[in-house]
Amino acid sequence: MSTEEADLASLRTELRGWLDQHCPASLRAAADGGKRSQPTAAERATWLEVCASRGYTTPSWPKEYGGGGLAKAELRVLQEEVARIGAQIPPVSFFGTAMLGPVLLEFGNEDQKKEHLPRITSGEIQWCQGYSEPGAGSDLAGLQTRAVLDGDQYVINGSKIWTTGANHADWMFCLVRTDPQAPKHDGISFILFDLKSPGVTISPIRLISGESDFCQVFFEDVRAEARNLVGPLNGGWTIAKRLLQHERQMLSGGMPGGAPAGPAARKKKKGAPKEVPAPTSALAESTRPYLGDVDGRLAEATLRDRITQYELDSLCFGLTLRRSGEEARAGQGPGAATSMFKLYASEMNKRRGEIQMAVRGASALGWEGEGFTPGELMETRGWLRSKGNSIEGGTSEVQLNVIAKRVLGLPD
Ligand SMILES: Cc1cc2nc3c(=O)[nH]c(=O)nc-3n(C[C@H](O)[C@H](O)[C@H](O)COP(=O)(O)OP(=O)(O)OC[C@H]3O[C@@H](n4cnc5c(N)ncnc54)[C@H](O)[C@@H]3O)c2cc1C
Repeated sequence: MSTEEADLASLRTELRGWLDQHCPASLRAAADGGKRSQPTAAERATWLEVCASRGYTTPSWPKEYGGGGLAKAELRVLQEEVARIGAQIPPVSFFGTAMLGPVLLEFGNEDQKKEHLPRITSGEIQWCQGYSEPGAGSDLAGLQTRAVLDGDQYVINGSKIWTTGANHADWMFCLVRTDPQAPKHDGISFILFDLKSPGVTISPIRLISGESDFCQVFFEDVRAEARNLVGPLNGGWTIAKRLLQHERQMLSGGMPGGAPAGPAARKKKKGAPKEVPAPTSALAESTRPYLGDVDGRLAEATLRDRITQYELDSLCFGLTLRRSGEEARAGQGPGAATSMFKLYASEMNKRRGEIQMAVRGASALGWEGEGFTPGELMETRGWLRSKGNSIEGGTSEVQLNVIAKRVLGLPD
């Protein structure tokens, strides 16, 4: 056994003992593969606390910033051991772990890393993304929210829109215009501030799915500490684009359509503390009660074809994502190719919703109340919510533009 193998074996033993001692029984699989009992809020909180105390909510981040400091092979051991007992590392806000954290690691100064990263890992601070404005979505660089330096603070005026989760978040990472005279891409900065600051007003917007996850956020003389400006003054566009690549990577893996189906995926879902979550599609199984089966096959031939094609595409996509994720981790991180994955994942998720609706017939018409199961109501709302997949994180048309220019190298 090589030294590396011996180290991994001893890590495995140590992790097994640690999991045994700290992971609540209700958050592990029972012998039959199901969960044991409904975990209490206290059990969930304790589990989050012990995982965060070892940095396992962001296992590959450096230890000095609250991460787990695990190398690739060690991360795999953690994933395997967590999966072995059918548990899951508790997720903390993906705005922090999958979007802001990676760019702070790349562009933040030491003080910023030390101040913000540990509070992402612990789940203490929830973040939201202040990019889009009423007049600047696809043309993000046209943003008009102004920040003017006053002593050691920036004074911010303007507004952001479609800000997911602003009504639950503590802090915002925000794009602001710091030089209105410069060409539009060159006058933008990337700044962080507390949403409880005086002058911030948050108004939820109701979505087609009935949720109010979206907000418009208004800033009136909001003061942000200048030390929380990330990267160079007027150099925010580079950071903004990088963060979008991380966002697109996360969205590609986070949608049910963007995930591998089949045994490999099921194994992953149980316990992998992935930075990019990967739920299974499991579409065929969920449609069986509606379509019935004949000799183990879904009874309705046309829908069976659509479902099978979907499952195959989902499996291939999941494997492609996994390979490219490993390549990205080994190289320079995510790049423009994330636009291809985001585009495809959006279409897959929308396709999945359409199939679910076709399969359920009249059972897909429920909005609330009796006559529909909670699962049916959830699918209907999920189908409506999926319409936003090809808009959030940049529309599908914008992804096609990025693919044409940055991946295929076609002329402007
Ligand atoms: C579910 C959801 C969550 C979101 N969360 C956030 C968030 O947390 N924070 C945040 O800042 N924003 C968020 N957004 C906003 C999102 O980033 C924008 O809606 C998106 O970038 C599109 O901008 P827009 O709405 O202004 O549309 P527009 O840019 O006005 O686009 C309108 C249409 O024109 C097309 N179009 C525009 N320009 C081009 C072009 N050059 N070539 C081809 N077609 C083009 C678009 O594809 C689209 O079909 C969210 C959106 C959704 C749906």
